[in-house]
Amino acid sequence: TSTSNYTNTGFDRGHQCPSEDRDLNSTDNAATFLMTNIMPQAPNLNRVTWVDLEDYCRTLINSGNELYIMAGGYGSGGTGSNGGITYSFASGKVNVPARYWKVIVVLPVGSNDAGRVSANTRVIAVDMPNVQTVNSQPWGNYRVSIDAIEAATGYDFLSNVSTTIQSSIEATVDNGPTQ
Ligand code: MN
Ligand code: MN
Repeated sequence: TSTSNYTNTGFDRGHQCPSEDRDLNSTDNAATFLMTNIMPQAPNLNRVTWVDLEDYCRTLINSGNELYIMAGGYGSGGTGSNGGITYSFASGKVNVPARYWKVIVVLPVGSNDAGRVSANTRVIAVDMPNVQTVNSQPWGNYRVSIDAIEAATGYDFLSNVSTTIQSSIEATVDNGPTQ
């Protein structure tokens, strides 16, 4: 696919890894513009709710943390700026996810990351609808457990962390600061 596939679809080219998170050098940055990093997001998701969470993540980085961030979409059927429900475009080559998720692990800057994830490690998971009304709520209202994202997507997140710790931190819903 190419950028032109998105023209007039009513959906933005939503970067899963934001360009702003890969600005150390031009090679890293260019990789964020590959179409494999891009999925169709309703403009109010891409430009408001999703970006608000991206900005908050950079706030955490700027206060001495390192983050593991995983993101994607699931399901089919979103509502962009053209209204209605769009399931796909580009002759079916681009699925329009119904929902977008993100899983974030927050660690103070350090080493041996998987080994130092504990039951007290902050993890943030969100599950947002791919619709124009998404921004009627702040990003923090879309927080869910990691277990909920595992159930929705079939992935097993944090699989390098012991199952005891996974079952603890994946079952909780973050209630920390959101800005
Ligand atoms: Mn689990
Ligand atoms: Mn898991």
